[in-house]
Amino acid sequence: MKPNTGKGAKVLIIGGGIAGLSAATALCDLGISPLVLEKSPFLGGHAIQFACKATDSCQNCFACSVEEQLRKVTENPQILGTLNSELKRLTKKDGRFMAVIERYPALIDPERCNNCGECFKVCPEADKAAIQEAYSVYNQSRYGINIDRCLYFAKDKSCNRCQEACPENAIALDQDAEKMEREFDAVIVASGFTPADPAEKDQFGYGTHKNVVSALELERILRSRGKAIRPSDEKEPKKIAFIQCVGSRERKRPFCSRACAYALRMAAAIRARQPDIETTTFYIDIQSFGKEFLKTYKALKADIRMVRMIPGDVYQVEGDRLCVSFMDHATHQALDEVFDMAVLSVGLMPGKDNKVLSELLRIDLDETGFFSPPDHTAGRETTQDGIFVAGTARGPMDIADTIADAGKAAWEAARYLITDTTSWRYP
Ligand SMILES: Cc1cc2nc3c(=O)[nH]c(=O)nc-3n(C[C@H](O)[C@H](O)[C@H](O)COP(=O)(O)OP(=O)(O)OC[C@H]3O[C@@H](n4cnc5c(N)ncnc54)[C@H](O)[C@@H]3O)c2cc1C
Repeated sequence: MKPNTGKGAKVLIIGGGIAGLSAATALCDLGISPLVLEKSPFLGGHAIQFACKATDSCQNCFACSVEEQLRKVTENPQILGTLNSELKRLTKKDGRFMAVIERYPALIDPERCNNCGECFKVCPEADKAAIQEAYSVYNQSRYGINIDRCLYFAKDKSCNRCQEACPENAIALDQDAEKMEREFDAVIVASGFTPADPAEKDQFGYGTHKNVVSALELERILRSRGKAIRPSDEKEPKKIAFIQCVGSRERKRPFCSRACAYALRMAAAIRARQPDIETTTFYIDIQSFGKEFLKTYKALKADIRMVRMIPGDVYQVEGDRLCVSFMDHATHQALDEVFDMAVLSVGLMPGKDNKVLSELLRIDLDETGFFSPPDHTAGRETTQDGIFVAGTARGPMDIADTIADAGKAAWEAARYLITDTTSWRYP
Protein backbone atom coordinates (compact mmCIF):
# COMPACT_ATOMS: atom_id res chain seq x y z
CA MET A 1 0.00 0.00 0.00
CA LYS A 2 1.21 3.51 -0.79
CA PRO A 3 1.57 6.24 1.83
CA ASN A 4 -0.85 9.12 1.89
CA THR A 5 0.17 10.89 -1.30
CA GLY A 6 0.43 14.48 -2.46
CA LYS A 7 -1.30 17.34 -0.70
CA GLY A 8 -2.32 16.60 2.87
CA ALA A 9 0.49 14.09 3.40
CA LYS A 10 2.34 14.43 6.69
CA VAL A 11 6.11 14.51 7.11
CA LEU A 12 8.03 14.21 10.38
CA ILE A 13 11.16 16.38 10.46
CA ILE A 14 13.63 15.39 13.19
CA GLY A 15 15.61 18.51 14.20
CA GLY A 16 14.68 22.19 14.18
CA GLY A 17 17.98 23.73 13.01
CA ILE A 18 18.27 25.60 9.72
CA ALA A 19 18.00 22.28 7.82
CA GLY A 20 14.74 21.29 9.55
CA LEU A 21 13.25 24.78 9.27
CA SER A 22 14.14 25.03 5.56
CA ALA A 23 12.71 21.58 4.81
CA ALA A 24 9.50 22.49 6.69
CA THR A 25 8.99 25.69 4.66
CA ALA A 26 9.69 23.90 1.37
CA LEU A 27 7.23 21.09 2.19
CA CYS A 28 4.58 23.56 3.25
CA ASP A 29 4.93 25.38 -0.09
CA LEU A 30 4.17 22.02 -1.74
CA GLY A 31 1.00 21.53 0.32
CA ILE A 32 2.55 18.86 2.54
CA SER A 33 2.16 19.21 6.34
CA PRO A 34 5.41 19.09 8.30
CA LEU A 35 5.84 18.50 12.02
CA VAL A 36 9.22 19.72 13.31
CA LEU A 37 10.36 17.68 16.29
CA GLU A 38 13.06 19.51 18.25
CA LYS A 39 14.88 18.07 21.21
CA SER A 40 15.96 21.36 22.80
CA PRO A 41 13.74 24.18 24.13
CA PHE A 42 14.41 26.37 21.04
CA LEU A 43 14.30 26.26 17.27
CA GLY A 44 17.22 27.41 15.12
CA GLY A 45 19.99 24.92 16.00
CA HIS A 46 23.60 26.09 16.14
CA ALA A 47 23.29 28.76 13.46
CA ILE A 48 20.71 30.89 15.32
CA GLN A 49 23.57 31.75 17.73
CA PHE A 50 25.81 33.25 15.05
CA ALA A 51 26.72 36.91 14.69
CA CYS A 52 26.58 38.85 11.42
CA LYS A 53 30.08 38.94 9.91
CA ALA A 54 29.63 41.95 7.64
CA THR A 55 32.59 44.31 7.34
CA ASP A 56 31.86 47.43 5.29
CA SER A 57 29.85 45.10 3.06
CA CYS A 58 27.98 41.80 3.45
CA GLN A 59 30.35 38.79 3.66
CA ASN A 60 27.62 36.25 2.85
CA CYS A 61 27.94 34.43 6.18
CA PHE A 62 24.18 33.70 6.00
CA ALA A 63 23.64 34.18 9.76
CA CYS A 64 20.73 36.56 9.04
CA SER A 65 19.01 34.01 6.78
CA VAL A 66 18.58 31.70 9.80
CA GLU A 67 16.73 34.42 11.71
CA GLU A 68 14.56 35.03 8.65
CA GLN A 69 13.78 31.32 8.21
CA LEU A 70 12.86 31.07 11.89
CA ARG A 71 10.51 34.05 11.52
CA LYS A 72 8.81 32.39 8.53
CA VAL A 73 8.34 29.12 10.41
CA THR A 74 7.02 30.66 13.63
CA GLU A 75 4.57 32.84 11.69
CA ASN A 76 3.27 29.99 9.52
CA PRO A 77 0.31 28.24 11.18
CA GLN A 78 0.63 25.31 8.73
CA ILE A 79 3.99 24.30 10.21
CA LEU A 80 3.62 22.41 13.46
CA GLY A 81 6.44 22.08 15.94
CA THR A 82 7.06 20.23 19.16
CA LEU A 83 9.95 21.33 21.42
CA ASN A 84 11.68 19.38 24.21
CA SER A 85 10.69 16.29 22.26
CA GLU A 86 12.35 13.07 21.20
CA LEU A 87 11.45 10.21 18.93
CA LYS A 88 11.25 6.99 20.95
CA ARG A 89 9.98 4.49 18.36
CA LEU A 90 9.25 4.37 14.65
CA THR A 91 7.48 1.51 12.94
CA LYS A 92 6.04 1.19 9.46
CA LYS A 93 2.71 -0.31 8.59
CA ASP A 94 0.82 -0.22 5.29
CA GLY A 95 3.26 2.37 3.92
CA ARG A 96 2.81 4.79 6.84
CA PHE A 97 5.15 5.50 9.74
CA MET A 98 3.89 5.27 13.33
CA ALA A 99 5.98 7.47 15.60
CA VAL A 100 6.05 7.42 19.38
CA ILE A 101 7.27 10.80 20.60
CA GLU A 102 8.17 11.74 24.17
CA ARG A 103 7.54 15.38 24.93
CA TYR A 104 8.29 17.45 28.01
CA PRO A 105 5.72 20.18 28.47
CA ALA A 106 6.91 23.80 28.36
CA LEU A 107 8.34 24.05 31.87
CA ILE A 108 8.28 27.84 31.49
CA ASP A 109 4.79 28.96 30.50
CA PRO A 110 5.28 31.41 27.56
CA GLU A 111 1.97 33.12 28.37
CA ARG A 112 3.11 34.00 31.90
CA CYS A 113 6.86 34.54 31.39
CA ASN A 114 7.76 38.24 31.22
CA ASN A 115 11.38 37.55 30.12
CA CYS A 116 12.79 39.12 33.32
CA GLY A 117 15.64 36.58 33.53
CA GLU A 118 15.40 35.94 37.31
CA CYS A 119 15.44 32.17 36.65
CA PHE A 120 18.67 32.51 34.70
CA LYS A 121 20.31 34.59 37.46
CA VAL A 122 19.62 32.07 40.24
CA CYS A 123 20.30 28.83 38.32
CA PRO A 124 23.46 27.20 39.80
CA GLU A 125 24.06 25.39 36.50
CA ALA A 126 23.37 28.32 34.14
CA ASP A 127 26.99 28.24 32.91
CA LYS A 128 26.37 24.61 31.89
CA ALA A 129 23.26 25.70 29.97
CA ALA A 130 20.72 24.17 32.39
CA ILE A 131 18.68 27.30 31.68
CA GLN A 132 19.23 28.65 28.22
CA GLU A 133 18.51 32.09 26.89
CA ALA A 134 17.11 32.18 23.37
CA TYR A 135 19.16 34.00 20.76
CA SER A 136 16.24 35.16 18.65
CA VAL A 137 13.14 37.20 19.39
CA TYR A 138 11.20 34.59 17.42
CA ASN A 139 11.85 32.04 20.15
CA GLN A 140 9.24 32.51 22.89
CA SER A 141 9.54 32.30 25.83
CA ARG A 142 13.02 33.75 25.99
CA TYR A 143 14.27 31.20 28.55
CA GLY A 144 14.13 27.43 28.33
CA ILE A 145 15.06 24.63 30.73
CA ASN A 146 17.36 21.94 29.42
CA ILE A 147 16.12 18.72 30.97
CA ASP A 148 19.43 16.91 30.37
CA ARG A 149 21.35 19.47 32.48
CA CYS A 150 18.82 20.75 35.03
CA LEU A 151 19.55 19.52 38.60
CA TYR A 152 15.84 19.06 39.31
CA PHE A 153 15.71 16.26 36.71
CA ALA A 154 19.27 14.98 37.14
CA LYS A 155 19.42 14.88 40.96
CA ASP A 156 16.11 13.77 42.28
CA LYS A 157 14.33 17.15 42.40
CA SER A 158 17.21 18.59 44.44
CA CYS A 159 16.97 22.14 43.06
CA ASN A 160 13.98 24.31 42.22
CA ARG A 161 15.52 27.75 42.68
CA CYS A 162 14.27 29.06 39.34
CA GLN A 163 10.69 28.10 40.17
CA GLU A 164 10.91 29.87 43.52
CA ALA A 165 12.53 32.98 42.04
CA CYS A 166 10.02 33.44 39.21
CA PRO A 167 7.87 36.51 40.05
CA GLU A 168 5.16 35.42 37.60
CA ASN A 169 4.83 31.79 38.76
CA ALA A 170 5.56 30.83 35.17
CA ILE A 171 7.79 27.85 36.03
CA ALA A 172 6.36 24.45 36.95
CA LEU A 173 9.09 21.80 37.13
CA ASP A 174 6.89 19.06 38.53
CA GLN A 175 5.49 17.96 35.20
CA ASP A 176 5.87 14.59 33.56
CA ALA A 177 6.84 13.88 30.00
CA GLU A 178 3.93 12.80 27.86
CA LYS A 179 3.93 10.21 25.09
CA MET A 180 2.24 11.04 21.80
CA GLU A 181 1.58 8.69 18.90
CA ARG A 182 1.37 10.19 15.43
CA GLU A 183 1.25 8.84 11.88
CA PHE A 184 3.43 10.19 9.08
CA ASP A 185 3.93 9.44 5.40
CA ALA A 186 7.66 10.26 5.28
CA VAL A 187 10.50 11.30 7.60
CA ILE A 188 13.33 13.80 7.12
CA VAL A 189 16.28 13.49 9.50
CA ALA A 190 17.75 16.97 10.08
CA SER A 191 19.42 16.37 13.44
CA GLY A 192 22.58 18.31 12.58
CA PHE A 193 26.09 18.06 13.97
CA THR A 194 27.96 18.23 17.28
CA PRO A 195 30.82 20.72 17.59
CA ALA A 196 34.19 19.07 18.32
CA ASP A 197 35.06 19.17 22.01
CA PRO A 198 37.93 21.71 22.28
CA ALA A 199 38.96 20.24 25.66
CA GLU A 200 40.13 17.09 23.85
CA LYS A 201 43.10 19.13 22.62
CA ASP A 202 44.56 19.77 26.05
CA GLN A 203 47.68 21.45 24.59
CA PHE A 204 45.50 24.50 23.81
CA GLY A 205 44.29 24.89 27.41
CA TYR A 206 40.57 25.12 26.77
CA GLY A 207 38.73 24.94 30.11
CA THR A 208 41.87 25.81 32.09
CA HIS A 209 43.09 29.07 30.49
CA LYS A 210 40.43 31.75 30.94
CA ASN A 211 40.85 33.43 27.57
CA VAL A 212 40.84 30.36 25.35
CA VAL A 213 37.36 30.11 23.82
CA SER A 214 35.76 27.98 21.13
CA ALA A 215 34.63 29.67 17.91
CA LEU A 216 31.04 28.93 18.95
CA GLU A 217 31.57 30.87 22.19
CA LEU A 218 33.06 33.78 20.26
CA GLU A 219 29.97 33.75 17.98
CA ARG A 220 27.78 34.09 21.09
CA ILE A 221 29.97 36.89 22.52
CA LEU A 222 29.80 38.81 19.23
CA ARG A 223 26.07 38.28 18.94
CA SER A 224 25.23 39.32 22.50
CA ARG A 225 27.89 42.04 23.06
CA GLY A 226 28.41 43.27 19.49
CA LYS A 227 32.22 43.07 19.82
CA ALA A 228 35.06 40.80 20.89
CA ILE A 229 35.87 40.88 24.61
CA ARG A 230 38.06 38.70 26.82
CA PRO A 231 36.06 36.41 29.13
CA SER A 232 38.46 37.05 32.05
CA ASP A 233 37.93 40.82 32.37
CA GLU A 234 35.49 41.78 29.59
CA LYS A 235 38.18 44.08 28.15
CA GLU A 236 38.89 44.43 24.44
CA PRO A 237 41.78 42.12 23.47
CA LYS A 238 44.65 43.62 21.49
CA LYS A 239 45.82 40.41 19.84
CA ILE A 240 43.69 37.36 19.02
CA ALA A 241 45.01 33.99 17.78
CA PHE A 242 42.63 31.84 15.73
CA ILE A 243 43.60 28.15 15.63
CA GLN A 244 41.98 26.24 12.77
CA CYS A 245 40.90 22.61 12.35
CA VAL A 246 40.41 21.80 16.05
CA GLY A 247 38.94 18.30 16.09
CA SER A 248 39.01 17.55 12.39
CA ARG A 249 41.66 16.58 9.81
CA GLU A 250 43.37 14.22 12.21
CA ARG A 251 43.89 10.48 12.19
CA LYS A 252 40.71 9.72 14.16
CA ARG A 253 38.59 12.20 12.13
CA PRO A 254 40.30 12.78 8.80
CA PHE A 255 37.46 14.74 7.18
CA CYS A 256 37.43 18.50 6.58
CA SER A 257 34.85 20.55 8.52
CA ARG A 258 34.74 23.26 5.82
CA ALA A 259 35.18 25.94 8.48
CA CYS A 260 37.90 28.07 6.77
CA ALA A 261 35.47 30.58 5.28
CA TYR A 262 33.58 31.45 8.44
CA ALA A 263 36.69 31.63 10.62
CA LEU A 264 38.25 34.09 8.17
CA ARG A 265 35.02 36.09 7.98
CA MET A 266 34.90 36.20 11.75
CA ALA A 267 38.47 37.56 11.98
CA ALA A 268 37.70 40.14 9.26
CA ALA A 269 34.45 41.21 10.98
CA ILE A 270 36.35 41.79 14.24
CA ARG A 271 39.01 43.85 12.43
CA ALA A 272 36.28 45.93 10.77
CA ARG A 273 34.53 46.71 14.07
CA GLN A 274 37.59 46.89 16.33
CA PRO A 275 40.45 47.99 14.03
CA ASP A 276 42.95 48.14 16.91
CA ILE A 277 42.76 44.35 17.33
CA GLU A 278 45.41 42.33 15.48
CA THR A 279 44.32 38.85 14.43
CA THR A 280 46.54 35.92 13.48
CA THR A 281 45.09 32.77 11.92
CA PHE A 282 47.07 29.55 12.42
CA TYR A 283 46.07 27.03 9.76
CA ILE A 284 47.01 23.76 8.03
CA ASP A 285 45.90 24.89 4.58
CA ILE A 286 42.95 26.81 3.23
CA GLN A 287 40.21 24.66 1.75
CA SER A 288 38.09 26.33 -0.89
CA PHE A 289 34.37 25.56 -1.07
CA GLY A 290 31.93 27.40 -3.31
CA LYS A 291 32.65 29.54 -6.34
CA GLU A 292 32.85 32.79 -4.35
CA PHE A 293 35.36 31.53 -1.81
CA LEU A 294 38.62 32.44 -3.56
CA LYS A 295 37.42 35.99 -4.18
CA THR A 296 36.41 36.33 -0.52
CA TYR A 297 39.70 34.78 0.64
CA LYS A 298 41.83 37.19 -1.40
CA ALA A 299 39.88 40.18 -0.08
CA LEU A 300 39.94 39.03 3.57
CA LYS A 301 43.50 37.80 3.90
CA ALA A 302 44.93 41.24 3.11
CA ASP A 303 43.76 42.33 6.55
CA ILE A 304 44.56 39.17 8.54
CA ARG A 305 47.96 37.76 9.46
CA MET A 306 48.10 34.14 8.27
CA VAL A 307 50.57 31.63 9.75
CA ARG A 308 50.66 28.23 8.08
CA MET A 309 51.33 26.17 11.19
CA ILE A 310 49.18 24.73 13.96
CA PRO A 311 50.70 25.74 17.34
CA GLY A 312 52.16 23.06 19.58
CA ASP A 313 51.12 24.58 22.91
CA VAL A 314 49.27 27.48 24.50
CA TYR A 315 50.39 28.56 28.00
CA GLN A 316 48.71 31.04 30.31
CA VAL A 317 51.07 33.85 31.31
CA GLU A 318 50.78 37.02 33.40
CA GLY A 319 47.55 39.00 33.10
CA ASP A 320 45.67 35.94 31.83
CA ARG A 321 47.48 36.42 28.51
CA LEU A 322 48.41 33.44 26.35
CA CYS A 323 51.79 32.39 25.06
CA VAL A 324 51.43 30.50 21.79
CA SER A 325 54.33 28.26 20.73
CA PHE A 326 54.70 27.51 17.04
CA MET A 327 57.31 26.90 14.41
CA ASP A 328 57.86 29.62 11.84
CA HIS A 329 57.14 28.02 8.48
CA ALA A 330 59.72 30.10 6.58
CA THR A 331 62.70 29.96 9.00
CA HIS A 332 61.84 26.69 10.82
CA GLN A 333 62.52 28.52 14.08
CA ALA A 334 60.52 27.79 17.23
CA LEU A 335 58.72 30.97 18.28
CA ASP A 336 56.72 32.04 21.35
CA GLU A 337 54.25 34.87 20.87
CA VAL A 338 51.91 36.39 23.44
CA PHE A 339 48.21 36.98 22.64
CA ASP A 340 45.29 38.26 24.73
CA MET A 341 42.83 35.65 23.58
CA ALA A 342 42.81 32.41 21.53
CA VAL A 343 39.87 31.10 19.51
CA LEU A 344 39.67 27.40 18.68
CA SER A 345 37.88 26.79 15.37
CA VAL A 346 36.05 23.64 16.33
CA GLY A 347 35.11 21.19 13.61
CA LEU A 348 31.70 19.76 12.76
CA MET A 349 31.40 16.22 14.17
CA PRO A 350 28.57 13.70 13.70
CA GLY A 351 25.47 14.46 15.78
CA LYS A 352 25.48 12.96 19.30
CA ASP A 353 22.23 11.12 18.56
CA ASN A 354 23.24 9.67 15.19
CA LYS A 355 23.79 6.16 16.53
CA VAL A 356 20.51 6.06 18.43
CA LEU A 357 18.63 7.54 15.48
CA SER A 358 20.23 5.13 13.02
CA GLU A 359 19.02 2.22 15.17
CA LEU A 360 15.54 3.68 15.71
CA LEU A 361 15.07 4.44 12.02
CA ARG A 362 17.08 1.45 10.78
CA ILE A 363 19.19 3.61 8.48
CA ASP A 364 22.94 3.37 7.94
CA LEU A 365 25.74 5.64 9.07
CA ASP A 366 28.94 5.90 7.06
CA GLU A 367 32.38 5.16 8.51
CA THR A 368 32.74 8.74 9.83
CA GLY A 369 29.47 8.54 11.78
CA PHE A 370 27.39 10.86 9.56
CA PHE A 371 24.31 9.56 7.80
CA SER A 372 25.89 9.68 4.34
CA PRO A 373 28.62 11.68 2.60
CA PRO A 374 27.68 15.25 1.60
CA ASP A 375 27.94 14.37 -2.06
CA HIS A 376 25.78 16.89 -3.81
CA THR A 377 25.23 14.62 -6.78
CA ALA A 378 23.80 11.82 -4.62
CA GLY A 379 20.24 11.60 -3.40
CA ARG A 380 19.16 12.26 0.16
CA GLU A 381 17.19 9.01 0.44
CA THR A 382 18.38 6.42 2.92
CA THR A 383 18.36 2.65 3.09
CA GLN A 384 14.70 2.88 4.24
CA ASP A 385 12.00 3.90 1.77
CA GLY A 386 10.40 7.16 2.84
CA ILE A 387 13.25 8.34 5.12
CA PHE A 388 15.48 11.18 3.90
CA VAL A 389 18.41 13.07 5.42
CA ALA A 390 19.10 16.82 5.20
CA GLY A 391 21.86 19.27 6.20
CA THR A 392 24.82 18.55 8.43
CA ALA A 393 23.32 15.26 9.60
CA ARG A 394 24.88 14.11 6.25
CA GLY A 395 28.27 15.77 6.81
CA PRO A 396 29.88 19.19 7.36
CA MET A 397 28.39 22.01 5.29
CA ASP A 398 27.76 25.72 5.69
CA ILE A 399 24.39 27.43 6.07
CA ALA A 400 23.90 28.14 2.36
CA ASP A 401 24.60 24.51 1.41
CA THR A 402 22.42 23.30 4.29
CA ILE A 403 19.46 25.38 3.08
CA ALA A 404 19.92 24.06 -0.47
CA ASP A 405 20.31 20.50 0.78
CA ALA A 406 17.16 20.71 2.91
CA GLY A 407 15.22 22.04 -0.09
CA LYS A 408 16.36 19.04 -2.12
CA ALA A 409 15.45 16.62 0.69
CA ALA A 410 11.96 18.18 0.80
CA TRP A 411 11.63 17.74 -2.98
CA GLU A 412 12.75 14.12 -2.76
CA ALA A 413 10.25 13.46 0.02
CA ALA A 414 7.52 15.11 -2.08
CA ARG A 415 8.52 13.03 -5.09
CA TYR A 416 8.37 9.87 -2.99
CA LEU A 417 4.90 10.83 -1.79
CA ILE A 418 3.48 11.43 -5.24
CA THR A 419 5.11 8.50 -7.01
CA ASP A 420 4.54 4.79 -6.77
CA THR A 421 7.24 3.86 -4.25
CA THR A 422 7.82 0.44 -5.76
CA SER A 423 8.89 1.85 -9.15
CA TRP A 424 10.63 4.97 -7.87
CA ARG A 425 14.42 5.00 -8.15
CA TYR A 426 16.85 7.88 -7.97
CA PRO A 427 18.79 8.08 -11.28
C1 LIG B 1 31.86 27.70 15.23
C2 LIG B 1 31.02 27.58 14.00
C3 LIG B 1 30.74 28.71 13.27
C4 LIG B 1 30.00 28.62 12.09
N1 LIG B 1 29.75 29.76 11.38
C5 LIG B 1 29.10 29.68 10.20
C6 LIG B 1 28.89 30.84 9.40
O1 LIG B 1 29.24 31.96 9.78
N2 LIG B 1 28.27 30.69 8.20
C7 LIG B 1 27.87 29.47 7.76
O2 LIG B 1 27.34 29.38 6.64
N3 LIG B 1 28.01 28.35 8.51
C8 LIG B 1 28.61 28.41 9.71
N4 LIG B 1 28.77 27.28 10.47
C9 LIG B 1 28.12 26.00 10.02
C10 LIG B 1 26.64 25.98 10.51
O3 LIG B 1 26.66 25.89 11.92
C11 LIG B 1 25.88 24.80 9.90
O4 LIG B 1 25.91 24.90 8.49
C12 LIG B 1 24.39 24.77 10.33
O5 LIG B 1 24.23 24.99 11.71
C13 LIG B 1 23.79 23.41 9.98
O6 LIG B 1 22.43 23.37 10.34
P1 LIG B 1 21.69 21.98 10.66
O7 LIG B 1 20.25 22.29 10.80
O8 LIG B 1 22.10 20.94 9.68
O9 LIG B 1 22.29 21.50 12.07
P2 LIG B 1 22.20 22.11 13.56
O10 LIG B 1 22.44 23.56 13.55
O11 LIG B 1 23.13 21.25 14.36
O12 LIG B 1 20.70 21.84 14.02
C14 LIG B 1 20.23 20.53 14.33
C15 LIG B 1 19.03 20.62 15.27
O13 LIG B 1 18.54 19.29 15.51
C16 LIG B 1 18.29 19.13 16.91
N5 LIG B 1 18.44 17.70 17.24
C17 LIG B 1 19.58 16.98 17.34
N6 LIG B 1 19.29 15.70 17.64
C18 LIG B 1 17.94 15.61 17.73
C19 LIG B 1 17.03 14.55 18.03
N7 LIG B 1 17.48 13.31 18.28
N8 LIG B 1 15.72 14.82 18.06
C20 LIG B 1 15.26 16.08 17.81
N9 LIG B 1 16.07 17.14 17.53
C21 LIG B 1 17.39 16.89 17.48
C22 LIG B 1 19.33 20.01 17.58
O14 LIG B 1 18.90 20.36 18.90
C23 LIG B 1 19.37 21.23 16.63
O15 LIG B 1 18.38 22.19 16.99
C24 LIG B 1 29.50 27.34 11.65
C25 LIG B 1 29.79 26.20 12.43
C26 LIG B 1 30.54 26.30 13.58
C27 LIG B 1 30.84 25.07 14.39
